[in-house]
This record gives sequence, structure tokens and C-alpha cells, in this order.
Amino acid sequence: MAGILFIISAPSGSGKSTLVSEVRKQLSGIEFSVSWTTRPPRGSEQDGREYNFTMREEFERMVAEGQFLEHAEVFGNYYGTARRSLELARAAGHDLLLDIDVQGAAQVRAKMPEAVSIFVLPPNPKVLRTRLRNRSRAEGVVNEAELYRRLSEASREIENYRGYGYILINDILDRAVAQLEAIVQAERYYRNGEVIAYRPGRVLEVAAACRQVNSQERLKPVLEAFGIIGSSNQQLLNFEEDSDDS
Ligand code: ADP
Ligand code: 5GP
Repeated sequence: MAGILFIISAPSGSGKSTLVSEVRKQLSGIEFSVSWTTRPPRGSEQDGREYNFTMREEFERMVAEGQFLEHAEVFGNYYGTARRSLELARAAGHDLLLDIDVQGAAQVRAKMPEAVSIFVLPPNPKVLRTRLRNRSRAEGVVNEAELYRRLSEASREIENYRGYGYILINDILDRAVAQLEAIVQAERYYRNGEVIAYRPGRVLEVAAACRQVNSQERLKPVLEAFGIIGSSNQQLLNFEEDSDDS
């Protein structure tokens, strides 16, 4: 049975890592590719668990040696997926999940068009700001400049949603987790004939509704809130905090 490559991208703070960790608790046979990065560890992150943390010179040496399937510079740091992650997952017949930015996703799709790609969006800019801020507080470091940098990149990243096969709007966490699980199960069913044990009809229906081609109605208010469609609303793009966000 061939392993499936899943790519998941989202603006920083959308809840991608949260979704992935919830789904990994529920589904077996899916590995998470631990990326390499030159950014310093954040909060409780551990080397080799969330990321392989490294120095710029070492990263550049790895690039020169062709060790990366893809790599990109994001928020001033390098990030990359080692080819070895893919080789190991393939040898084990496991699915592999890459949590990578839109630049990296485009590189992987060009090399491996069979990859399943999923774009996660927050419901609106205010929620995104609140989540980024809460995460920084929980990690004990609120870096306003870094927060602003990540927020201001969000709309640009969201503009890339069209390149992705599936769209997840992470509003209510449980629902988004169920949708991500359904996508994984549906792809396993269609590609490998894997049986869906519980309510298969419902699972396939949920996954189908998340396909990008079926997501236009759900997407519209989110794209408007980020000023991506509805040009008259562009100036309303607003990352101001909600009153309950202090
Ligand atoms: P990302 O990996 O996309 O940068 P995280 O998974 O770190 O984002 O989530 C950012 C913050 O938002 C975290 O504090 C997380 O607990 C919170 N969060 C994630 N999803 C939701 C949700 N659906 N509702 C409320 N908070 C959420
Ligand atoms: P963070 O610093 O918040 O962990 O991640 C910042 C961004 O880098 C996120 O969009 C994340 O998906 C992306 N990223 C993480 N690992 C990789 C990787 O290996 N390659 C690429 N291209 N982006 C990555």
C-alpha cells in the first residue's frame, strides 16, 4: 500500500499545529515530518520534536548538498523538509504530513502532483490576532514586531488558497479536527481502498464538502474579512483586538 503525502499550509496562528496534533491522536499510520529551521525554539519546543533547530551555515550546507525536498525563507528564517523524511515514511508504507508554508507547498506540488494539499484559514483577522497573541502569552513572550509581521503576511498567504485541493476553516476546533480526519480517511479510501470503520457515508460527505471546488460559499466571508475579495472592503481589513482580547 502506497503512503499518501499530505501538505498542510495556513497563515501562522490559524491553528494548523493544533489540528495536526489532535488528528494524530485519533488516526494511526500517519507520520509528521519534522522540518529543519534556523529559527530559535519557541516556548516548550524541543529539538527533534517540533523542529530540528540548526544554524544558518549548517542549513545552507544542507541546501548545497541537495538534502531538502523543499525549502523556503519564512519570516526571515529558513525552513526545509529533508528528503529523508519522505524516504523513511515511504519505506514504512506510512502516510506523511508536511506542515509547510505556501512557497514550500508549491515546490512539493510541482515535484509530486499526487500530493493531497489542505489550506487552513482562521475565520477572520481578529480571531487570528487573538490566537497569535494568546499563543505568545502562553509561551511567555509577546513580541509585538513578530506578531505584526505574521499578521501582515496572512492576507498574502491566503491568496494562495487556490492551489490547494481542500479548504478548512478553523473556527470551532472540534469541527475542524473532524473535517481534517475525514479528509485523511477519504483519501485513504479512494486511493488505497482502505475501509472507513465508522459512518463511512458521512465521512466521505464531510471530506467532499471541504474540497476547494465545493468551498466557495464558506470561503466568501473569510476572503472578504481579509480584504482578498470585495475591493470596496479592502480598507476595512482590521486586525484590531476584540474587547475581550486584553
Ligand atoms: P499554527 O500552527 O497555525 O501557527 P497553532 O496551532 O499554534 O497555530 O494555534 C495558534 C493558537 O490558537 C494556539 O494558542 C491554539 O491553542 C489556538 N487555537 C487553535 N485552534 C483554535 C480554535 N479552533 N479555537 C480557538 N483557539 C484555537
Ligand atoms: P513557525 O515559525 O510558526 O513554526 O512556522 C512559520 C511558517 O513556516 C509556517 O507557515 C510553517 O508552515 C512554515 N514551515 C514549517 N516548516 C516548514 C518547512 O519545512 N518548509 C517550509 N517551506 N515551510 C515550513
